[in-house]
Amino acid sequence: MKMELVNLNKTFRDAVAVRDVSLEVGHGELAAFLGPSGCGKTTTLLNIAGVYKPTSGDILFDGVRVNELQPKERDIGMVFQSYALYPHMSAYENIVFSLVLKKRPKDEMQREAKRVADMLGIGHLLDRSPAQLSGGQQQRVALARALIKRPKLLLFDEPLSNLDARLRMSMREEIKRLQVELGITSVYVTHDQVEAMSMADKVAVMQDGNLLAYVPPGELHERPRTIFIAQFIGSPSMNILDAEFVMKGGKPTAILAGGKVELEVPKERVPKLSGEKRAVKLGIRPESVFLEPQATADAYSAVTFVESMGRENLVVCDVDGQRIQFLSAPGESVHLGDHVGMKFDMASVQFFDPESGLSLL
Ligand code: ATP
Repeated sequence: MKMELVNLNKTFRDAVAVRDVSLEVGHGELAAFLGPSGCGKTTTLLNIAGVYKPTSGDILFDGVRVNELQPKERDIGMVFQSYALYPHMSAYENIVFSLVLKKRPKDEMQREAKRVADMLGIGHLLDRSPAQLSGGQQQRVALARALIKRPKLLLFDEPLSNLDARLRMSMREEIKRLQVELGITSVYVTHDQVEAMSMADKVAVMQDGNLLAYVPPGELHERPRTIFIAQFIGSPSMNILDAEFVMKGGKPTAILAGGKVELEVPKERVPKLSGEKRAVKLGIRPESVFLEPQATADAYSAVTFVESMGRENLVVCDVDGQRIQFLSAPGESVHLGDHVGMKFDMASVQFFDPESGLSLL
């Protein structure tokens, strides 16, 4: 099923939670809604589910307006952060609950329960009560309960945030595998960018109720449209530095730190500047800055902070009042106060307008 939002607005009293959001999730696609707490992700999802009614705008399922339909009339399956299983019922009873409501025959319930339980590897747990199941198993039951209805649309609201990191990763893979196998159009709300980037066909980035971007994960990483997106995606976050863009000896060049640092800009990364404007914000990811012997370094400075991140260190330097963070490779020992040279890999450099924060690429 194709799901469309057309100029969706949702206001609570005088607080705008969702502002003029339009997007389309194609048949069988998974769209992730990503953004900081309070940006409007859940409100958007609950509008799609029919729990909230839009203040204005339309929700279309396969081109048909569903604004007036009740949640149960929408053919959707929902999976939440809190598994919302009925504690006094067994896993089996929880899973078949929607079929009980529809008064389906017992043999059909058993067949369907087996089908979804097998898909999720929980066939042996069906007699247990939720209290006798681990968090991951409860989430599988919740997923089975959503899938037994053969929904046309699956809605997820932070389904993995109660699980530990390892389980989160395996459940992420499992949900994605099932979603692709079953070809169910899905909307997935998360504040975890790794989850969004690894699972989604397209990521909707939200901030303060606005949809900032709706693009494939790769594009979000490679060509972020604004400084906010550039810094929100990727960890540790992108360095944003004051720079000037000039042609020097016929070569496109970015100048930083009052002329102490000059970086040649690859042709395909030259910013689109109008008129005489030369001031830019230069964005470079920590992964694109490397330690370099002083003689061949692009920049040179004192280390102001070092933090172990397991195999590598996060190193922070101060270049003429500007903070630059990068990762040192395992085995490279760097200490607070050391003077180090840095090399910038400009192949994926970004440029932004200092006033609007919009990408100049
Ligand atoms: P989180 O990740 O914390 O759940 P979110 O991105 O899902 O955040 P929403 O829950 O959609 O954000 O909230 C968006 C805005 O709308 C917030 O400012 C919130 O306070 C407000 N809001 C949400 N639900 C209601 C409500 N029922 N009544 C009034 N205001 C609400």
